[in-house]
Amino acid sequence: MGFTCKQFVKKNALLLATVSGVVLGIVLGIAMREAKLSQLDIAYFSFPGDILLRMLKMMILPLIVCSLITGVATLDQKASGKLGALAVTYYMTTTLIAVIIGIVLVVTINPATGRAGKETIDSTGSSISVEAVDALTDLIRNLFPENLVQACFQQFITSQYQTMREPITEERNITSLLPIVNETIGTTVGYQVTTVVEQNVTIDYRLVGSYKLGINVLGMISFCITFGIIIGRMGDEGVILVKFFSAFNEAVMKIVGIVIWYAPIGIIFLIAGEIMKMEDPAKVLEQLGLYMATVIAGLAIHGILVLPLIYFIVVRKNPFAYLSGVLQALLTAVATSSSSATLPVTVNCLEQNNKLDKRVTRFVLPIGATINMDGTALYEAVAAIFIAQANGIVLNFGQIVTVSVTATFASIGAAGVPQAGLVTLIIVLTAVGLPTEDITLILAIDWLLDRLRTTVNVLGDSIGAGVVAHLSRKDLHLDSDPDDATTDVT
Ligand code: ASP
Repeated sequence: MGFTCKQFVKKNALLLATVSGVVLGIVLGIAMREAKLSQLDIAYFSFPGDILLRMLKMMILPLIVCSLITGVATLDQKASGKLGALAVTYYMTTTLIAVIIGIVLVVTINPATGRAGKETIDSTGSSISVEAVDALTDLIRNLFPENLVQACFQQFITSQYQTMREPITEERNITSLLPIVNETIGTTVGYQVTTVVEQNVTIDYRLVGSYKLGINVLGMISFCITFGIIIGRMGDEGVILVKFFSAFNEAVMKIVGIVIWYAPIGIIFLIAGEIMKMEDPAKVLEQLGLYMATVIAGLAIHGILVLPLIYFIVVRKNPFAYLSGVLQALLTAVATSSSSATLPVTVNCLEQNNKLDKRVTRFVLPIGATINMDGTALYEAVAAIFIAQANGIVLNFGQIVTVSVTATFASIGAAGVPQAGLVTLIIVLTAVGLPTEDITLILAIDWLLDRLRTTVNVLGDSIGAGVVAHLSRKDLHLDSDPDDATTDVT
């Protein structure tokens, strides 16, 4: 018995350390709240967590580039076409299911009525208008970066926020937007005042900056897929390039293998720091408890019931045994709030623990981390309808359909970075004419919901990789089902 226990600990050391990191982070965060540290001290305290985030983000660009190029180049044309079609079908279907679950729950529970009506919640924002057509053209524009080097550190977002005309009655109106914008877009954000219509009354301004992640992931994906297809079909001339990127990829994954041993330590400080920054929980619960419960119930139904069921129906294997292999990735998602930062861990888990075919993981996961965000789509649908309810607006059927469609596309457009969903929610609100300044109603609790929806995003990508690997095993010429390995995982 003692021997078995020792073996178990040895085999699952990293996972156990990560789980302990999460628990320790929560305990430490709650204990340290009493100390009421300043924001600066909390930033010093969270330093080890910041280092983890930086290391994970450092791996994203080389990982996406090398893994997509080798993934695509090593597949034959028929297989890559089928894999791509399967992945996109899975992404669209599951995202739509997530949105529908969110809408059914929020309409049934109606969380804004009763004690959490708008009058009881503080809203101090300014209104931003983002036309859906601008958001869509940005999405497409990002697919075609005009400069590859620039795409490595910039995402085209300016037109999403272009020329917002705001009546500035008090200084607070503009500063109240900063937490959202800074958190999401990063420190480079700035207000470029273009016209002062009347002194201190109305200004036109444009937000400039790049996402915190600092990479136009969509642009890199479209280039790498094209490049991979080309070098895979160049014959002998292309072989050297395929070998180069493949070796590069192996080296990157070796670095990831080292970084994830540091993850448990970083996770402690990331989680503790966030708990220390949290507003008074009693107040938040009183104001937004039902809204939180609705989002969490939706995410739980989708993540614990629907996605595992899809895996079971398609693959005919125990989905929870499969998911135990990606537990470390799920916990990293909780700690980092970023599916892109979690990507290296997700790839590592699925390849090392679940033994999925590398051609599938390296093709499907980078794309999934960028465009497949079930949790974000569900959250945006719930949040938009909650804001309507808080304003006493009853959306008609057509508007609810608009919410579902725009929430799906807004989740595709959201980068895999913290609180990106909060910003793309603006597209959904604008599409049905809801007040965008009311995003501030739900801001207080977004740090937590973001972690949970990111976890569902990563879970959706992982299940997707398993489903696609299973369905394409014949095209990949695999003798056995790649998912057979999932039985070893536990
Ligand atoms: N943080 C989420 C992610 O990285 C995106 C969101 O804000 O919903 O997947």
